[in-house]
Amino acid sequence: MARFTLPRDIYFGPGSIKELAALGKTHKRAMIVTGGSSMQKFGFLDRLEGILKEAGLEVTRFEGVEPDPSVETVMKGAKAMQDFGPDVIVAIGGGSPIDAAKAMWVFYEHPEKTFDDIKDPFTMPKLRTKATFVAIPSTSGTATEVTAFSVITDYSTKVKYPLADFEITPDIAVIDSDLAETMPPKLTAHTGLDALTHAIEAYVAGLHSDFSDPLALKAIAMIDDDLVASYNGDMAARDRMHIAQCLAGMAFSNALLGITHSMAHKIGAQFGLPHGLCNAILQPYVIQFNRKACEARYADIARSLGLPGATERQLVNVLIEKLRALNESLNIPATLEEAGVSKDCFDAHLKFISEQAALDPCTGANPRATTAEDIAKILTCAYEGRDVNW
Ligand code: FE
Repeated sequence: MARFTLPRDIYFGPGSIKELAALGKTHKRAMIVTGGSSMQKFGFLDRLEGILKEAGLEVTRFEGVEPDPSVETVMKGAKAMQDFGPDVIVAIGGGSPIDAAKAMWVFYEHPEKTFDDIKDPFTMPKLRTKATFVAIPSTSGTATEVTAFSVITDYSTKVKYPLADFEITPDIAVIDSDLAETMPPKLTAHTGLDALTHAIEAYVAGLHSDFSDPLALKAIAMIDDDLVASYNGDMAARDRMHIAQCLAGMAFSNALLGITHSMAHKIGAQFGLPHGLCNAILQPYVIQFNRKACEARYADIARSLGLPGATERQLVNVLIEKLRALNESLNIPATLEEAGVSKDCFDAHLKFISEQAALDPCTGANPRATTAEDIAKILTCAYEGRDVNW
């Protein structure tokens, strides 16, 4: 079955958070879910609560969702929801509080379920009998506000579960760029490059479609235009990046991703490197590997960016060079070694990481069939800065 699912409503632009006043007409009780202190510090939490209260809703908060949220936090939040009984859940902040709130929503609506019941893709029970879900992102990268995914960590087994089901695609997304303006430059670069990876991987992924393709290409073009300026503090470019990352999210939520993400998931956890940084380093090597299976698709991307080249081969070479130059202008290292991973540490974990990455759900959507041995070789090239050429 081919399916394309997005939130019902997307509000966007500076100040668009105020549109949530409309919830007053249809809802009575809101639970706000958020992370650490940044949304509070910049005043967005009070602003959101004020808008909802003024619209006549009773409001409570669940604060302090940690980065890489745990199963325990999810269960605690679900319990708080059962106690308060919200008919709308409003998650605000980075990817972590929004991901956690999505999972809390599942256990709020279905207290009889266990984490085990829902951890396999597309096994979630029906939602929306108790609450509507609103997501307001403060970073420009994960696009969890429009996707069917949520990453929750089981710290007892040290496993990150990528929950996946269109049931947890939010109902309403608010792409208010005022929130993204608070990001420091490094986070702007890492999250922006994560978004670029989403768009490129979605364009070549197994489930890409006529619905996802234009979103992916538009996102790539916008990121090409605006990411460096956004990194350098241009707030108009930062605003457009907030939209671009959302378009990329709409594409990959439906087309899925590929092995750049499979590897980034595992090396990020093992070597303690930010997700977007891992993607940015790996992407040129992955294109060198995947081009055998989908050179024409990568050439489409190059053409859509107006890159020169008489043949598909030339176009893809130029695309890879362009991505490397972009990384350089955002101070992203060219290799895993330059990123600070020691040779001993890399060698010690390579086999385990490669096996785990081969099993990652993103591997199945990659355009070229990939074994754990392939992944080990790609990672070695990315460590040493050698071309992938088999
Ligand atoms: Fe990502």
